[in-house]
Amino acid sequence: MTAINYRLPQKRALLTELPGPKSRALAERRRASVAAGVGSSVPVYTADADGGVIVDVDGNSLIDLGSGIAVTNVGASDPAVVEAVREQAGHFTHTCFMITPYEGYVRVAEELAALTPGDHDKRTVLFNSGAEAVENAIKVARLATGRMAVVAFDHAYHGRTNLTMALTAKSMPYKLNFGPFAPEVYRMPMSYPYRDAQVTGEQAARRAIGQIEKQVGADSLAAIIIEPIQGEGGFIVPATGFLPTLAAWARENGVVFIADEVQTGFARTGAWFACEDEQIVPDIITMAKGIAGGLPLSAITGRAELLDKVHAGGLGGTYGGNPIACAAALAAIDTIRELDLPARARQIGDLVLPRLRRLAEEVPAIGDVRGRGAMIAMEFVKPGTDEPDPELTKAVAARALEQGVILLTCGTYGNVVRLLPPLVIGDELLDEALSVLEEAVRASA
Ligand SMILES: *Cc1c(COP(=O)(O)O)cnc(C)c1O
Repeated sequence: MTAINYRLPQKRALLTELPGPKSRALAERRRASVAAGVGSSVPVYTADADGGVIVDVDGNSLIDLGSGIAVTNVGASDPAVVEAVREQAGHFTHTCFMITPYEGYVRVAEELAALTPGDHDKRTVLFNSGAEAVENAIKVARLATGRMAVVAFDHAYHGRTNLTMALTAKSMPYKLNFGPFAPEVYRMPMSYPYRDAQVTGEQAARRAIGQIEKQVGADSLAAIIIEPIQGEGGFIVPATGFLPTLAAWARENGVVFIADEVQTGFARTGAWFACEDEQIVPDIITMAKGIAGGLPLSAITGRAELLDKVHAGGLGGTYGGNPIACAAALAAIDTIRELDLPARARQIGDLVLPRLRRLAEEVPAIGDVRGRGAMIAMEFVKPGTDEPDPELTKAVAARALEQGVILLTCGTYGNVVRLLPPLVIGDELLDEALSVLEEAVRASA
């Protein structure tokens, strides 16, 4: 990676207990004003963030292994993004692309056509959130095919709006008591190598396809939507052959294959998109999170013949493709190119995976270490079994936080620690974070 001039010292430094007094005071005010349904997994309030660190309101400098859930791949204050935002905000903050359009939106669409897998003719629509992108990918697939049904998978996460809750697998906390859910969503078995070791990728795909043919019927199926590596569900990397077999079946049956790359996209897994690993060319790809250096932007990019079927006015939204978010996306894309962050993500994987694998040999509670690039996870189980251990998982994250390292957890069973460092984190800081993590695991297991 090219040398980066960080604005903040790239160090871990604890000045108070965590959370400190100022964070605790903010938590008090929050309890009286913010709805209880919004959680925060780390109880420290942010004052500043740059490179691999988040500085809290009490002056503590924490190492960030979460990137605000895979959003700040280029860092939380990438100078190019900051400058682009300033520049754009000084001219116009909004006009609505559906009223008086602007070049930034068109340029983002051009970039996404060039960056996403496949060299077919593509069209793009911009939105604000990942869930909105997923909703719209399904709208397009239904209109274009004239079919209704949608297949999603076990452990899937696609968002929190009504349709995307239906697509999401996990009840608590995402769905419980929020129904009724959108109809015509069918859930199929995933390929989960750690819990499904004897099934090859192709066999797992055939198992899903067999169920689709029996329970739904290809002629009724508009789309298959899948995360190429599942995010919230536990960083599940399907066995090789699973995705290509599904994609080929979809193509043969006129089913739109949607890759939800909201979490895996924008260099996170060591390529611009995780689909590239097995040369999958999705018909529509959904993007958000890492797309705009922290600003809210999302996109669907897909085959021109699908997207252009939709009547004028059928897609859009007041804020979709906001000019400041578009400027930020163009700057973030430049930074990813300039710093070759796909290569950096692979380097991070090469640094982290062997260390966690060595740790797993020593600690029987680590059932599995998996991931690709800078999207890496450990799954915790009761030693000698594959029974999930969510308590241990929570204890590891809490212990790491006490030591100044922000770690996220995930998984259908809540038993996965996931690493999503900003791709601009330096080696030394990453190394230190891993030492803290190793200590936290040894002490908690
Ligand atoms: C986060 C996520 C979403 C939802 O994105 P929001 O911006 O939170 O609506 C959808 N799909 C995947 C794979 C995600 O990780």
